[in-house]
Amino acid sequence: MIHQNRRKELLSQLDDDALVIISTNPEQLRNGDVHYPFRPHSDFWYLTGFKEPEAVAIFSNNGYTIFLRDKDPTREIWDGKRLGIKDAPQSLKADKAYPIDQLLALLPQLIDNAGTLYYDFKACALDDQIIELLSKTQYQSLATHVHEMRLIKSTKEIELMQKAADISVQAHQSALQQTQPGLFEYEIASVFDAEFRKNNSEHAYTPIVAGGENACVLHYIENNKPLNEGDLLLIDAGCEVEGYAADITRTFPINGKFSTAQRQIYQIVLDAQLAAIESIKPGVLITKPHQITTQIIQQGLVDLGILQADGDLSQFYMHGTGHWLGLDVHDVGAYQQNRQHRQYEAGMVTTVEPGIYIRKNDKINPIYWNIGIRIEDDILVTKTGHRVLTGALVKTIDAIELLMRKK
Ligand code: MG
Ligand code: MG
Repeated sequence: MIHQNRRKELLSQLDDDALVIISTNPEQLRNGDVHYPFRPHSDFWYLTGFKEPEAVAIFSNNGYTIFLRDKDPTREIWDGKRLGIKDAPQSLKADKAYPIDQLLALLPQLIDNAGTLYYDFKACALDDQIIELLSKTQYQSLATHVHEMRLIKSTKEIELMQKAADISVQAHQSALQQTQPGLFEYEIASVFDAEFRKNNSEHAYTPIVAGGENACVLHYIENNKPLNEGDLLLIDAGCEVEGYAADITRTFPINGKFSTAQRQIYQIVLDAQLAAIESIKPGVLITKPHQITTQIIQQGLVDLGILQADGDLSQFYMHGTGHWLGLDVHDVGAYQQNRQHRQYEAGMVTTVEPGIYIRKNDKINPIYWNIGIRIEDDILVTKTGHRVLTGALVKTIDAIELLMRKK
């Protein structure tokens, strides 16, 4: 019913005679006969709930037709069960189902009487041919409409996001407790693999497990270096549940005790993050958290003599403070409306993730070199303010050191 209601809601925003055509992702070859694990396109998943590859959904106020792979006893021995066209109407609440290889033959008559057509290019194998057929008529982009719907999460979606947050919090906590000098980054990465799979979930993105100077590489994913005494470990990892992502970063000392320099930088990032989170509520401009974090981090680095009062903060803090979170880890939804930054609304979910990254630099006291710190939580905007979905995970200096002592 959820997906049926979403299709109805989408159609109610379009012209009465609108026809929507939406395809899922193609399968991606890894090498030889091996494919990457398949994940449906998020928009397609959101509107149909259908997770098999090679599918196209077509719907209007006159009905819902789905094209999908039909049953194939031989292929199913190799690749697993398929829903098939016989069971598809009931299972997917569709009026009609046809084999995907009939799409191009049937499409002309399906679009014949339609008014406005909505379609998005998803690089599916059939896209070129669909577009050629559609080119005889006009079609509009569907994405803006679907993405605006996806931006505001329903109670059910929030439940799934909370579940993803809880599993990810648990995994971070285990990783924190298992970390010690002499291990390798991949050993700590494997804690997340196990915790996520144990809970029937999977990584929402490639995790970053970055010891010492590796934390200053923002998208470090090699995760293969030793964890050294005296260094920090930055971990950015989150799982997805039914497609909904969590996105958490914590940074902590590998030996369980922050040095003075690490403590100073950590506290600035934490103060910035807490103040930014505090500002989030409906009606506040979505640029506010970044304004707050840059101000606090700038001042903190100036106070420590790392940055000149008129210095360039972007050498130490070079990314934004957050992004929408949902079916995609960097979720869809416009950040501006009518060329103006928009305001928070209840049901939006954003990350808040300030950081400071100090590479080796002769102008800076060496005690600060190779410190890379980011703290990231997932924030749901509620009617009256916000809720931190990942709030159960430790992040004050005292709480981290205490948890790491209790091994
Ligand atoms: Mg992250
Ligand atoms: Mg993030």
